Amino acid sequence: MLQQTRVETVLPYYARWLRAFPTVHALARAKDDRVLKLWEGLGYYSRVRNLHRAAQTVAREHSGKLPRTAEGLRQLPGIGRYTAGAIASIAFGERVPLVDGNVARVFARVFAIRANVKAPRTMQALWQLAEELVPARNPGDFNQALMELGALVCTPANPRCEACPMRRVCVARARGLVDQLPNRGRPQAAKRVVVSAALVRRNGSLLMQRRPDRGLLAGMWELPALRRGQFRKGKPLLELRHTITNRRITLRVFECQCGSALQDNLTADLRWVSATEIKRLSLPAAHRRAIKQILSAE
Ligand code: SF4
Repeated sequence: MLQQTRVETVLPYYARWLRAFPTVHALARAKDDRVLKLWEGLGYYSRVRNLHRAAQTVAREHSGKLPRTAEGLRQLPGIGRYTAGAIASIAFGERVPLVDGNVARVFARVFAIRANVKAPRTMQALWQLAEELVPARNPGDFNQALMELGALVCTPANPRCEACPMRRVCVARARGLVDQLPNRGRPQAAKRVVVSAALVRRNGSLLMQRRPDRGLLAGMWELPALRRGQFRKGKPLLELRHTITNRRITLRVFECQCGSALQDNLTADLRWVSATEIKRLSLPAAHRRAIKQILSAE
């Protein structure tokens, strides 16, 4: 939950999650929809699918116990080199390194590394450095200290060099390069996307569509995409903007009616859903907001 998400945001989700799934086995047994629903609003939904699959693997192949080495952990869905390093060193005391954005920034400054830290070759060099530096004794404390140094002292803007325990050995500070490092290459331009969706009603229910099981927002329910032939398009109801990872999305919702082909023949991914039932389904935040705004304005 904490990957890409702040602690304050995660806390209520975490408490609810542990009440619903107190053990790995409980999570492994849970239905996809229930797992997704408890994650709704946290975003980056591939995390929850991986977590669910990882719990199933741990229950099935490891008798419900998490592997205790970074190598074993990396076999689980969603656990990459960083997460494996963090769990193995902090929870199990294994001498393994980790590099996240904070650590990369600290290293780039302390060792005055000018290469683009996002480039695979530089990343490899940073991991190599971390591997050499991590001590056999309390490797978890060392790794946490490095990450905290980056999060609280060696911050992206206005680092607190005067209070920094590395100030005497930091090459960037000695050479006046602190503001220029790390080199993160050119920022990627955000992609703009316009999505048109159909709000179709029948006896107090709305027509909802389930997204495919793979890809962005997999398995979530949303207002159906406005496709020609499927719907008769009516008046515009609302336009809202939101951002998902690197996409700036404009969502336009139109009042629609089912086209004649669709009227009695809903495809398997389309369903009439009552207002109460919508609350129980997992929806992308933008669609939840759009429905709420439209219905409450009436
Ligand atoms: S001295 Fe400044 S730039 Fe160097 S590691 Fe510390 S906070 Fe970062």
